[in-house]
Amino acid sequence: DATRGTVLRTEAMTKSFGGVRAVDEATTEFYAGRINGLIGPNGSGKTTFFNCVTGMIRPDSGTVTMHGKDVTRWAPHKIARAGLGRSFQLCRVFPRMTVLENMLVAVQPRSLGEYLANTRNPETVEKARAMLARVGIDHLESSEARDISYGQQKLLELGSTLMTDPPFVMLDEPAGGVNPALIERIAVLVKELNDEGTTFLIVEHNMELIMSLCDHIVVFDRGRPIASGTPAAVQADPKVLEAYLGV
Ligand code: ADP
Repeated sequence: DATRGTVLRTEAMTKSFGGVRAVDEATTEFYAGRINGLIGPNGSGKTTFFNCVTGMIRPDSGTVTMHGKDVTRWAPHKIARAGLGRSFQLCRVFPRMTVLENMLVAVQPRSLGEYLANTRNPETVEKARAMLARVGIDHLESSEARDISYGQQKLLELGSTLMTDPPFVMLDEPAGGVNPALIERIAVLVKELNDEGTTFLIVEHNMELIMSLCDHIVVFDRGRPIASGTPAAVQADPKVLEAYLGV
C-alpha cells in the first residue's frame, strides 16, 4: 500500500528455541493508518513474532524496520522513547500503585524526581484522568491496581500505553481473559483512536474481534505468513482454513 506507507516490516526474521523455529524467515509488512491484525493457530509463532518486533526478545537473524528505521536490536523502551511504537506488554500494571499513579508512571519518568514532578503537574494529571475516562475506569482512580478486575487492569494497561500519544500501538491479546462488555469497550476505543490517526498491530486469538476490527490481516502458520489482506480475503483463502484445521 504505497499511498499510506509501511509502519512495520520484517525481513526474513527468524527466532528459534532449541530446535523449534518459532518464527521462520518471516517477511511481513504492516501499514500506517490501519488496524493491522496478526492471527494464526496455536503455536504458529504469533507471540514470538510480537516479542521480536517489540524488542522483548532478539531475533536470531533478519531485520525489523519501524517507520523506516532499523530497530532490530533495540530494547522496547528505546523504541518507545524514539516515538516509534509502544506495546501493551511494555506497560505492566504496578499492583500496589493506584490506578491514577499507574497512569502517571506510564509517561516513563527517568527518575523518582521526575515522577514526583509529574504527580504535581496539573496538565499531566488532567491528561491521565481524561484517558482513564476514555477507557472507562476513571471511577477507580484511587483504587490500588491489584484490587480492580483483570479486565479493568487490561484497560488500565491500554490507557497507560496511550499516555505518551504513540503513533503506533502494538497489542498482544488485548481481549484475552476479558469479559465481552470490556472487549467491546476496547474495540470501540481502538476504532476511535485509529480514526484519530493511531496505527495498530493487534495479535489476538479472538477471531471475531480481529475480523470485525482489523482492515489488514496477516495469517501465520508454522512461523511464517501464509496469507494477508482484508478480513474477507483471508477468510476466503483455503490456505487459512487448512492451517486452522491442521490438515
Ligand atoms: P503462538 O503465539 O502463535 O501460540 P508462540 O510464538 O507462542 O506461538 O510459539 C511458537 C512455537 O515456539 C511453539 O512451538 C512454542 O512451543 C515455541 N516456543 C515459544 N516460546 C518458547 C520458549 N520460550 N521456549 C521454547 N519454545 C518456545
